[in-house]
Order: sequence, then C-alpha cells, then structure tokens
Amino acid sequence: MPNIALLGCGGFIGSHFLDAFLADPDVRVEGWDWTPAKIMGHLGRPNFRFHPGNIYGQADLEERLSGCDVVVSLAAICNPSQYNTKALDVIDSNFIQARLIADACARLGKWLIQFSTSEVYGQTLAHWATADGQGNGDPALYEMDEEETPLLLGPVASQRWSYACAKQLLERWIYALHKEKGLDFTIVRPFNFLGPRMDFLPGREGEGLPRVLACFTSALLDRKPLPLVDGGSARRTFLAVEEAVEALRLMIAKPAMARNRIFNLGNPANETTIRGLAELMRRTAAEITGDPGYHDLPLTDVSALEFYGEGYADSDRRMPRIDKALNLLDWRPSMGLPEILRRTLEDAFRTHGPVRL
Ligand code: NAD
Ligand code: UDP
Repeated sequence: MPNIALLGCGGFIGSHFLDAFLADPDVRVEGWDWTPAKIMGHLGRPNFRFHPGNIYGQADLEERLSGCDVVVSLAAICNPSQYNTKALDVIDSNFIQARLIADACARLGKWLIQFSTSEVYGQTLAHWATADGQGNGDPALYEMDEEETPLLLGPVASQRWSYACAKQLLERWIYALHKEKGLDFTIVRPFNFLGPRMDFLPGREGEGLPRVLACFTSALLDRKPLPLVDGGSARRTFLAVEEAVEALRLMIAKPAMARNRIFNLGNPANETTIRGLAELMRRTAAEITGDPGYHDLPLTDVSALEFYGEGYADSDRRMPRIDKALNLLDWRPSMGLPEILRRTLEDAFRTHGPVRL
C-alpha cells in the first residue's frame, strides 16, 4: 500500500477514509484539515501525520506531497446553503485553490484523485427538455453517465450553480493538465454519500445550515418539524460512505484501472424523493428508540427562497450510471437506504439523543 496525502482528512468522507485506511499498518497517511475535531481518535497513530490549519498557507506542502505516492483531494466548501450566499468563497475553494493542488501534482508527477461532485451534471435533460420534467420515463433523459451526459447548469443569476461550475472547471483543468502536462488523475463524482459524522448538527456542533441529513437529524433530535424545501419533490440516490471508501481503496489498489478516468460513485438502487427520505428517517427514529411519537412529527413545506434565500435552485434528480466502477474496479454497492439511515441515526442518538439506545 502506498503513502497517501489526504487533503480534507478531517471532514465527513476524510474521517471515514482514515478509519478504513489507518487500520492497515502498511499504509501511511499525511493529512491536512482546518481542525481534527472528527478525527481525534487517529491523532496518535504512528502511520498518520496531521497538519492542522489552512492547507494553502503551509510552506512545506509541496515537499510533503512529494513524499507521497497518491494525493487524494477532498478539501472544499461543499455546503449548498453557501453556494448562493458565499459564491466567492465557494468558487475560490472549489477551483482557484483546488487547482493549486492539481498544478503541484502535475509538477511533481503525482497521481491526483480529485473529489468532484455529481452536481456537475446540473439538472437532467428531462428537466430541461420535457413538459412534465420527468422525461416520460426515458432513462436516457435522466441517467447520468460519465462519458455521454451533458453538464446542464442553470443561468448565472442562479448562484446555486457556482459550486457545480467551479468543480466542472476544476475537472476540465485537471483533464487539460493530463493532456498537456502528463498528469495522472482520477476524478470521483460522489452521489450523496451518507453516514455518521456528516456535517454538523446546528446548535449542537456548529451554526448554519448543513446538508439534508444533518437538517433532518437535528429536527428529529429536537422533536421539531422536518422542513421540506419546495415540497421535497427533488430526488436523490444515496450511498453508504463506507462503500464509497471501499471504492477509493479499490482505485488505489488498481491504479491501471483507475487512472485517467472519471467515476460516478453512487447507488442507483437507493433512490427516493426528499419527502421519502424524511418519512423514512422518522420511521427509523421511531424504530431505534422504540418511541412511536416520532411518526407524528410534522413534515412542513418551506419555499426554497425562504429556506436558502435568493439564487437557490435545485438538482431535480441524480441517478448515476455506475458501470465503470462496477466493471473496472469490481465494486458493488449493496447497503440499502433503511440500513444506512439506521446506522447513521443510531450514531446520532447515541451521541446526542435524549433516549439511551
Ligand atoms: P466536508 O466538508 O465534510 O469535508 C471537507 C473538509 O475539507 C472539511 O473538513 C474542511 O475543513 C476541509 N477544508 C476545506 N478547505 C480547507 C482548507 N483551505 N484548509 C484545510 N482544510 C480545508 O465534505 P465531504 O462531504 O467530506 O466532501 C469531501 C469532498 O467530496 C468535497 O470535495 C465535496 O465537494 C465532495 N463531495 C461530497 C459529497 C458527499 O456526498 N459527501 C457529494 C458531492 C461531492
Ligand atoms: N432539503 C430539504 N430540507 C432540508 C435540507 C435540504 O428539503 O432541511 C432538500 C434540498 O432542497 C435538496 C435536497 O434536500 O432538494 C438535498 O439537499 P442537500 O443539502 O443534502 O444537498 P444536495 O443533494 O442538493 O447537494
């Protein structure tokens, strides 16, 4: 196993990556993040060196990267509530700063595994081109394929797309570095990973508006209504974060299969509307606590303007094709959404809940 540089190692995906990789004493990880709050248990490990603070302010960054075999870049601002309210920071983080890592990898001859996003696909062809927005059930109009599907972002004033646009430009920059400077790359497009330690619980672990899992978890813990933006009709597919980490392990173990390719990582079998997600989370909370009262928590409609402010827009649907990961990496996601939510909510209730499990 190689020496791995992990930028953003203290975040949601990074912390699960460390759980899986540091268990192998042959792996060495150099990690960077603002804070180690989610990875305190790993700090003393002999095969892990942590560099706190801003990645881009560190004088020895390039020297450290040069000692690694592969650079995994997760570091980003990736919270939808900021795409329309802090678009300058979002573009800075997801393109202007992130490209410095890609440039360094090209200079140093290092393999870069860059986390992009499923959001680069934007809204589906079905959304743009068919009257009902559903594509009349034709999968070609909503499935997202790495090689074929166009990337359909909304207008500039829809600032929601600042993130997707910055990530798309980063992908194009990396691809050009490959073509013109010989950079070896892998681009990963995550489709809504779920699991413990995602984001923060507002009022308990931070302030602001996290992604949907933490919003709903927080509402359940506080026994408050679950807010459904624009009725919760948007659709997502969800993947267990542990299975995403397994895909990453396979990429690193099979460089000839993974290099110079783009991979969707998601689980098409786990599709639901956001309303469906809210209902399932209520049911799961009732099951794990044995308290049927959770079934009665209201789901309240809230407009996108009220919830996120001006400039928000939504991805209507994210249905990945994952043939490349299946065939090239021999990766098989199998965990169903009920099981993912059970594990995630058990963790949240154990840590924060009024109920002892
Ligand atoms: P996260 O916010 O939990 O993790 C990102 C980490 O990067 C954070 O811990 C943050 O502190 C760190 N970071 C950012 N800028 C930094 C800087 N300048 N210096 C030091 N640390 C910095 O997010 P995540 O869910 O783990 O996502 C990781 C990557 O995957 C991101 O690039 C994101 O765009 C992409 N992604 C994730 C998902 C998902 O389902 N989780 C979906 C689409 C894309
Ligand atoms: N959403 C919601 N209620 C919330 C938070 C989010 O209905 O409390 C919706 C949001 O509008 C989107 C979906 O849930 O349709 C997923 O949002 P998330 O922030 O997790 O990120 P995304 O998948 O859009 O990148």
